[in-house]
Amino acid sequence: ELNSQLTIFEELESEVRSYIRSFPVMFEKAKGYKLWDAKGKEYIDFFAGAGALNYGHNHPKMKEKLLSYLADDGITHSLDMGTKAKAAFLEKFENVILKPRSLQYKVMFPGPTGTNTVESALKLARKVTGRDLIISFTNGFHGMTLGALSVTGNSFKRHGAGVPLHNSMAMPFDSYLGDDVDTVDYLERFLEDNGSGVALPAAIILETVQGEGGLNTAKDEWLKRVEEICRRWDILLIVDDVQVGCGRTGPFFSFEPSGIKPDIVCLSKSISGYGVPMALTLIKPQYDIWEPGEHNGTFRGHNLAFVTAAEALSFWETKDFSREILDKGAMAGEFLNDLTDKYPELKGEVRGRGLMRGIACGVDGLAEMICGRAFEKGLIMETSGPNSEVFKIMPPLTIDREGLNRGFAIIEASVKESLN
Ligand code: PMP
Repeated sequence: ELNSQLTIFEELESEVRSYIRSFPVMFEKAKGYKLWDAKGKEYIDFFAGAGALNYGHNHPKMKEKLLSYLADDGITHSLDMGTKAKAAFLEKFENVILKPRSLQYKVMFPGPTGTNTVESALKLARKVTGRDLIISFTNGFHGMTLGALSVTGNSFKRHGAGVPLHNSMAMPFDSYLGDDVDTVDYLERFLEDNGSGVALPAAIILETVQGEGGLNTAKDEWLKRVEEICRRWDILLIVDDVQVGCGRTGPFFSFEPSGIKPDIVCLSKSISGYGVPMALTLIKPQYDIWEPGEHNGTFRGHNLAFVTAAEALSFWETKDFSREILDKGAMAGEFLNDLTDKYPELKGEVRGRGLMRGIACGVDGLAEMICGRAFEKGLIMETSGPNSEVFKIMPPLTIDREGLNRGFAIIEASVKESLN
């Protein structure tokens, strides 16, 4: 009867729908790290809206703020006009996030989603430098609009639009050529070698942990070397923290432990805190050379998102939240290490950081099978990597230890079953 409810999607929705195929139920409610389907079956969420729900579903404090804002007839839509909700967000972002980290950025609202912030970053880098080329990395993912897609190192994702790596070169990411090769040497050589025919790039764009590309994790030293290269050739460094920012790896910004200071930072997904669309482009003040209106969009900054986002930043007023994420992340790491030891048939390699971890399985189709079995047992989890070879643990950061352990037990049972 539940499945018959789903026929409406087959009949009325485009073939492009995807998650409904991995999770074929009618979802109805969600709170914290749990979701329920229309039959009342409970699911543990190790997916967190692809990173958009770091504070869980329907966080009570954010919900309260939102409801009271609506009850007071607060302004919902206002393009980029001045509103109290926007001012409150900007002030809190400056005081809670930027100042304590000695970071100076102007805040731009580029449009509602991750791909909008990437577009704005690419455009600005070209405008600042007067150059075209963008260096991206193998297996990077930056979004689905033409510009962001053209720096995305995944041919399947580019197929729909027939988009080549347009004005972009994908260089090997950290460890792409094995642990013995420092891939920055390769990049440096290209730039030094005028005869190679490679134009000087406007920017280098990267994720510190490749969320969609298989949880490949850049070492701090590698990031520092990339930054040095950017400084040496006046190339702008863009860090795409759309998926790994907002605490996913422990600190608010994923690049904090490396000490690098990107010229442009892209944030979206969890920045609103409540799963409401919102994106920020952070720009070093000297590069904020936009003319008014040069990059705009009807939904550039939405007041309902400002209300929840300001509340979400309260999590960052002390260092406790970050510590808690790291502790729970360590717990996840330990679980995954034990799992690979206990089940060598997985041919597993543990990857990731903070509460974004997973196992790259050395057997074709295995990670997908594990996710499928886990779903039947009430756990929502997705794969990552160019061949969907990684199963990825990405629960809300607010999950408690009990929730984590319940999820881990389902994963272990699913691994056991999948290997039989
Ligand atoms: N950058 C990264 C690193 C992402 O993971 C994503 C989304 N998965 C995007 C950009 C694009 O964001 P959106 O889907 O909101 O456009």
